[in-house]
Amino acid sequence: MSAVRMDGKMVSAKVRGSILDEVNRLKKRGVRPGLAVIIVGEDPASQIYVRNKERACEECGFYSEKYALPEETTQEQLIGLIEELNHNPHIDGILCQMPVPAHISEQAVIDAIDPTKDVDAFHPVNVGKIMIGDFDFLPCTPAGVMELLDEYGVDPKGKKCVVIGRSNIVGKPMAMLLLHRHGTVTICHSRTENLKEVCAQADILVAAVGRADFVTADMVKEGAAVIDVGMNRRENGKVTGDVCYDEVNEKAGYLTPVPGGVGPMTITMLMKNTLKAAKLHAGIED
Ligand code: NAP
Repeated sequence: MSAVRMDGKMVSAKVRGSILDEVNRLKKRGVRPGLAVIIVGEDPASQIYVRNKERACEECGFYSEKYALPEETTQEQLIGLIEELNHNPHIDGILCQMPVPAHISEQAVIDAIDPTKDVDAFHPVNVGKIMIGDFDFLPCTPAGVMELLDEYGVDPKGKKCVVIGRSNIVGKPMAMLLLHRHGTVTICHSRTENLKEVCAQADILVAAVGRADFVTADMVKEGAAVIDVGMNRRENGKVTGDVCYDEVNEKAGYLTPVPGGVGPMTITMLMKNTLKAAKLHAGIED
């Protein structure tokens, strides 16, 4: 029997619909969420992500500004723009599309963003708040995964959860969110011994590796929920995840497709964070 397909497109559309409803209610109080998106250079994948974020802003009724800066922009110029946006009352969220060119420090850019406008939740203040469990914003990809699990009734409480990958933007915060929801969490990485055996014990397996066909059926427990965060490009240009979809589909209980799984959820969570930031700035309680 095949796994239940966790449809990120469908869940995203639902969440964006509820965001739009709330934006329409806020409009009557003179509040309109605003997002500034900055892109430096010409990276083709980043261009696509930024376009998708602009579209999502339109769909949710947000105000948005896009700043497309040339590759040779200096760190000082970029931080100068961020500081202006920090003080711009029409802007509730600031997102600088990563990666930035090598001559700019990613961390310096992240540190420059006002934590109340840090809708990616990468600023050390927000990272610390997530660790404590008292947060305003959640990092978009892990938050999107949690929303998908909730939508399909997969509760991490007491379950063995394995996250493959320990990056600051996906693996580590993913593990933390599963832990907050009472999962028993293991984080794997490139130095993990017996990776296959560890993964095969997971009730919830999250793959955030960045390698096509990494997770094979022998790494998956019968009936497990398998979340594929990976976004890899094959030689033919097609986007694919980290999971061997067809073989894992026969064994898993739940599985996210790529594309159409975690990807759309990530952008939707960015919209959710921007809405939250607008309410924070307007002094409106949830
Ligand atoms: P990353 O920073 O490159 O991290 C990859 C992680 O995988 C690292 O922790 C690495 O371990 C681990 N890894 C690599 N090879 C491994 C191996 N052979 N065995 C076990 N672990 C291994 O990547 P990322 O930024 O977290 O992104 C991961 C994937 O998710 C990428 O495909 C990215 O495009 C995708 N992504 C998707 C979304 C979305 O919205 N769907 C959002 C963000 C990222 P070490 O730490 O030991 O090196």
